[in-house]
Amino acid sequence: MEVIYLDNNATTRVDRAVIDAMLPYFEENYGNPSSMHTFGGRVAAAVETARQQVADLIGATADEIVFNSCGTESDNTAIQATLASYPDKRHIITSRVEHPAIKSLYEALAKKGYRTTFVPVDREGNLDLDYLYDHLSDDTAIVSLMWANNETGVIFPIEEISRYVSDRGIVFHTDAVQAAGKLPIDVSQTGVNLLSLSGHKIHGPKGVGALYVRKGTKFSPFMIGGHQEKGRRGGTENTASLVGLGKAAELTRERINRGDYDCVQELRDKLENTLLAEVPHTLLNGNRNRRLPNTSSIAFEYVEGESILLMLNEHGICASSGSACTSGSLEPSHVLRAMGVPYTAAHGSIRFSLSGYTTEKEIDFVLQKVPPIIERLRKMSPFWQQAVEKTQIA
Ligand code: PLP
Repeated sequence: MEVIYLDNNATTRVDRAVIDAMLPYFEENYGNPSSMHTFGGRVAAAVETARQQVADLIGATADEIVFNSCGTESDNTAIQATLASYPDKRHIITSRVEHPAIKSLYEALAKKGYRTTFVPVDREGNLDLDYLYDHLSDDTAIVSLMWANNETGVIFPIEEISRYVSDRGIVFHTDAVQAAGKLPIDVSQTGVNLLSLSGHKIHGPKGVGALYVRKGTKFSPFMIGGHQEKGRRGGTENTASLVGLGKAAELTRERINRGDYDCVQELRDKLENTLLAEVPHTLLNGNRNRRLPNTSSIAFEYVEGESILLMLNEHGICASSGSACTSGSLEPSHVLRAMGVPYTAAHGSIRFSLSGYTTEKEIDFVLQKVPPIIERLRKMSPFWQQAVEKTQIA
């Protein structure tokens, strides 16, 4: 069965050109970039090329890029490195809709005695800026806000917020794991001190990431070891993956410059508009106008997201739900709960996330399959039956 992959916010297909760029660094160029000999030096030069390619993607300079193992490590490093640099500051701020890489870390830091502020969002997933600005204080060590949300695609105004926060002398971190490669980013036009990105979201390899550290930002290494990454992250470099990350960054920058995402957005809009029009009792989660071009989170009321996913899976269609299976009960995602999406809608939310590889034929196939799946599931759903009895909605 053919796979129709609409789960690109979970991970992406590695570009062929990325694999081709990586292969020589497993085979003939396996030297250690820290070695004194020319054989290792050749690999060190390739790592530096990758650093420049990643820097170019976000408008940084190469020496502001610290390579590491993933987006999660970038997020953890940004926060822990800042807290270690400002040991007297005990207040940290983030939003209620962050990825677990930040959310769980903040919860763990709260248990260690840090005062944490989780900034709320409105029904469309927009950040409450007044709440954020009212909570900044001399004791605030760091503000960490995602550039774009992984579930809804909603974009926060990071340029504006980062300037406001850094003008007050507070370190600003952004998790740009979903935004990088889908939106043009130029850190030089922002007040961002630290920015996280990850290889596998931009058609690069898994298990490799980068943290941008603006020149002049205080930084205590999180991973302590050798002198790699100019002493900012110990550990022998994952050289082949770094070369792949660099190539992926270069290709993704070309895609953005060519406007490839306009086509992705057209397909996303076709999928979304048709489903919203043809399937009754569906809602769009998130701000329609301030979203990543590839992401659509749609709530199919009165059905279980997991059941939809299983049925889509039978047709080879890959997507994600807005629920997380925790302790035996299906809890709607914290993102949709923070947005105040009604329980009956949050449970039936599906995230479709497209890429440049998605074709119109695939979208047409999905559009053929989804409406009858929802109809079939609603016929079996006690929630739907109750809703029909109460309000005669059918
Ligand atoms: N931040 C966001 C917004 C993400 O979507 C993800 C992955 O889904 C991460 C962080 C974690 O990245 P990684 O999988 O590279 O650890």
